[in-house]
Amino acid sequence: MSHHDVVILGGGPAGTALALELKRHAPDLKILIAEAAIATDWRIGETLAPGAVQLLNGLGCRDHILRDGAIEGVRSQAAWGSDRPHAHDFMFSTRGSAWHLDRTSFDEALRAAAEAAGIEVWRGARFLSAVAEAAGWQLSLDCQGRRVEIGARFVADATGRSARFATSQGSRRRFADRLVGVAALVRLRDGAIRDHATLVEACENGWWYSTALPDGLMVLAWMSDSDIVHHHSSARLGPWLAQLRAAPLTAARAATANSAERIFTWPARSHCLDHVSGRNWVAVGDAASSWDPLSSAGIMKALRTGKLGAFVLLDAIRGVDGGGAKYRRLIEAEYRHYRRDRRTVYRMERRWSGSAFWQRRHAAEPFDREPAVHFAGEP
Ligand SMILES: Cc1cc2nc3c(=O)[nH]c(=O)nc-3n(C[C@H](O)[C@H](O)[C@H](O)COP(=O)(O)OP(=O)(O)OC[C@H]3O[C@@H](n4cnc5c(N)ncnc54)[C@H](O)[C@@H]3O)c2cc1C
Repeated sequence: MSHHDVVILGGGPAGTALALELKRHAPDLKILIAEAAIATDWRIGETLAPGAVQLLNGLGCRDHILRDGAIEGVRSQAAWGSDRPHAHDFMFSTRGSAWHLDRTSFDEALRAAAEAAGIEVWRGARFLSAVAEAAGWQLSLDCQGRRVEIGARFVADATGRSARFATSQGSRRRFADRLVGVAALVRLRDGAIRDHATLVEACENGWWYSTALPDGLMVLAWMSDSDIVHHHSSARLGPWLAQLRAAPLTAARAATANSAERIFTWPARSHCLDHVSGRNWVAVGDAASSWDPLSSAGIMKALRTGKLGAFVLLDAIRGVDGGGAKYRRLIEAEYRHYRRDRRTVYRMERRWSGSAFWQRRHAAEPFDREPAVHFAGEP
């Protein structure tokens, strides 16, 4: 049975950021990333918010990541609260531009950067179960149909929204809504404008977002609640196109592309774990808390909490107490801030007060005061 100092379950942005940060501070650690996918299928979540590039820079992999066809986005538009779109320019932002990514290559480039830094990456290695031992963990993985047992002193859960490890240890996801994304990836026709800024457009049953991607592609996603999608049968192409017609600016963009052949449904619920760390483990990225895609901040949060998770493990490795508790307060405070901001933004849209989607988002939520957190060990 192989043994590692740290096993990171999930090789998305959070898992790879944690691995890179840990390796930078403790080069002698034996670190393994166990990633379930062999190669990442197409997935949604492609706009890297302004500020994320600085995080990639800090991880030493900015140029490597952004050289493979990512498109710089200098503007976003929102038809929110009014049918006239408002533009937001990043040109004068101190945090720089947004970047439209091909998520498959982005995630793979992060894993390649981890390998280049001396971190072992197993692709096609799905976490199944864990048994706590005196000196850490015994983990069972499904490695392409073969059951493999490995040992780890510390574990990081970076399995995304499923929080597979944390929930197996009794942590519960506290959900705030039932949001899903129903999306298509379409190819722009020859001659179509290829610099479509990200467009967000509110409609009666939710909101749409569309953005150009590398290689002449565009993503069109309708965000709504799962029961509303079910009620309108809109996870099927015909009814989905009917919803698209209710968003005229997005529909006009869609007309510049070939018609969608398939649509995909993604869970997009907001949640926070009731315990984001425990003895010899920490959860990072979407596993710890996942946010509404309206924030456009999921990847950046994954990179940031991945880096913070590395400090929690460094504290634990060095026998420093309290790292996990500080991290928990930070994630909870951040989540409270996020929910307050989200409510403010949703309350700006008042055109469909009879719609269940908007009524739910206008309802009051309690918010506590968040404690100030200083993170020991962070440079
Ligand atoms: C509809 C939609 C649109 C979005 N749009 C944006 C956007 O424009 N910009 C943005 O910043 N964010 C966006 N997001 C959010 C963004 O996709 C996530 O926040 C981000 O991917 C989180 O990164 P992560 O590393 O925590 O998790 P993930 O990216 O989900 O990575 C988790 C990894 O763990 C692996 N895994 C899962 N289970 C196991 C297991 N049992 N064992 C081993 N490995 C496992 C998975 O294969 C995956 O590679 C969007 C989300 C949705 C749903």
